[in-house]
Amino acid sequence: MNELKDIIRDVPDFPKKGIIFKDITTLLADAPSFQRMVDLIAHRYVGKKISKVVVVEARGFVIGAALAYKLGAGVALVRKPGKLPSETFSKTYQLEYGSDTLEIHTDAITKGERVIIADDILATGGTMATVVEMVEALGGEIVECCFLAELEFLGGRKRLPEGKVYSLLTF
Ligand code: IMP
Repeated sequence: MNELKDIIRDVPDFPKKGIIFKDITTLLADAPSFQRMVDLIAHRYVGKKISKVVVVEARGFVIGAALAYKLGAGVALVRKPGKLPSETFSKTYQLEYGSDTLEIHTDAITKGERVIIADDILATGGTMATVVEMVEALGGEIVECCFLAELEFLGGRKRLPEGKVYSLLTF
């Protein structure tokens, strides 16, 4: 697992001064690492009757779509406002400075459907907590929220459903 951690690049002072950004594009670009990551995460959900993977714009799309393909599941996109063409359900959440909004098609998930939600990084948990509320509002049954990596020191998992958070790597 350390090889996967080591290939993630630290970018200091991005997007602003004082933040060390975990740049996962270096992992995505390396074929054996990408394959290993997808295989390891997908393995956890084999046989769990997952019918949809909810994916969070934008890096979550890359990981989540590969997981869905491996699991024989469909994909439901969570996007920034104004990108989805049909009827949407949207949710606004607070950031440190200001707020952000996410949207999902109202018919992207059917009631009672077993879903996992995939994103690249769990930081403060605000993004995933919002997606959890959206999926629950549409009636999806959340099996787990899964991440490539978790920034443990930010405590994001406390904001998510207990026992339903998985991250392949921790920093
Ligand atoms: P949170 O809402 O604070 O948990 O932030 C998570 C969201 O921000 C995810 O969608 C991530 O893609 C993105 N994010 C936060 N920190 C990082 C990072 O260090 N590297 C890559 N993405 C990050």
